[in-house]
Amino acid sequence: MKQTQLFTKTIKEAPKDEKSINAQLLIRAGFIDKLTAGVYSYLPLGLRVLKKIENIIREEMNNISCQEVFLPVLHPKEIWQKTERWQYPEMFKLKNRQGKEIGLGWTHEEVITPLVKKFVKSYKDLPVFVYQIQDKFRDELRAKSGLLRGREFIMKDLYSFHQSDTDLERYYTKVKKAYFRIFKRCGIGRQTFLTLASGGAFSGYSHEFQTITEFGEDEIYLCQKCKLGVNREIIQKEKYQCPKCKGKKLVIKKSIEVGNIFKLKDRFSKAFDFKFRDNKGMEKFVLMGCYGIGLGRLLGAVIEIHHDEKGIILPKELSPFDLHLLDLGRKKETEKLYQDLQKQGIKVLYDNREDKTAGTKFVEADLIGIPWRIVVSERTLAKGCIELKKRGRPKIEFVKIKHLPQFLNEKLKTLNAKQKCF
Ligand code: ATP
Ligand code: MG
Repeated sequence: MKQTQLFTKTIKEAPKDEKSINAQLLIRAGFIDKLTAGVYSYLPLGLRVLKKIENIIREEMNNISCQEVFLPVLHPKEIWQKTERWQYPEMFKLKNRQGKEIGLGWTHEEVITPLVKKFVKSYKDLPVFVYQIQDKFRDELRAKSGLLRGREFIMKDLYSFHQSDTDLERYYTKVKKAYFRIFKRCGIGRQTFLTLASGGAFSGYSHEFQTITEFGEDEIYLCQKCKLGVNREIIQKEKYQCPKCKGKKLVIKKSIEVGNIFKLKDRFSKAFDFKFRDNKGMEKFVLMGCYGIGLGRLLGAVIEIHHDEKGIILPKELSPFDLHLLDLGRKKETEKLYQDLQKQGIKVLYDNREDKTAGTKFVEADLIGIPWRIVVSERTLAKGCIELKKRGRPKIEFVKIKHLPQFLNEKLKTLNAKQKCF
């Protein structure tokens, strides 16, 4: 894509009311725009990143046999009364013109449970795994952390339905592994730790995936021996020792909950009278699990971790483009290179703007944070070369133009093999 076609522009100063690094950088780089507190628009560059995250999640969900659906956001009051959650403070409530009350979906157990019930009668119909990637609405009290806490935000929510605890446990473990793959592919694998959290009255522990960053709203106690995290809410119960390895060296870290998994058991199947017949003809309640990841929050966490004083440093699998190509006054040659790279299947953002100085182009490229930058100029062409630099590293390499395809092939190979969807 040519940068002259991009309607957004980078912004020098971060908006004064944005305190978080993720919002400051994403707004300055032209990835997102703030409409009001906790509500953001995704702009072309940001949307590309969001789609990359979405596709990583989709691939990993499909890999564990989930089926994708898309559920409504306008929810009748009655379904929420069944589970006694209509009064929850997060719920945005509206009335239609006849005075009928409607809630905006902040989670979807109340929709998915009666829906799956329509199709499941016997143990032969189980298990069922369903997910969606959808907007959620929550009247959050504090929405000051940019994409980390929105009032409108995108969530992947998966719900699983089982005939036995063993089956639920087995699938729960599968999801846990898929979540680690997702966070690794998004570039936050090393900073993200499985964390024990209280599971409410009905299921003992639940698990959160906590990403360590200074701006995090949560605090976890991280075991230095086995790397299990323990949420602050339950640490007292655990007497300040690791519940897994009994290690006593726990370090407090600020963190963000990027995902969580939860055994709901029969909490919702009871509310909706969702039973199945087992292989002996006995009626039993279906057992459920639910598993969430906030896509915007994940992106926010990635930015909180991967940046420097100049701007964003995108992990390669999330970058909106493979390469940022900068023309410093040699339009003809750069244009040809742009066409050649595209023919090779490489996705290029081409800074073809003629009214910008080299300095401005460098500063903006650093802010946007595409992993590889190529510069074509009088100086590089005199050597028959282009200049190649990896974002976040000081080293600059000169590569002969005729060797470039081979060179990039090597560097981008692993990347392109993975990116099937976007
Ligand atoms: P938190 O404790 O941070 O409010 P939660 O326990 O309410 O999170 P869930 O309802 O389980 O979270 O939602 C699943 C996932 O959705 C979370 O792990 C998080 O990634 C994301 N999420 C939750 N609330 C928000 C929000 N307000 N903005 C952005 N993402 C969110
Ligand atoms: Mg919440």
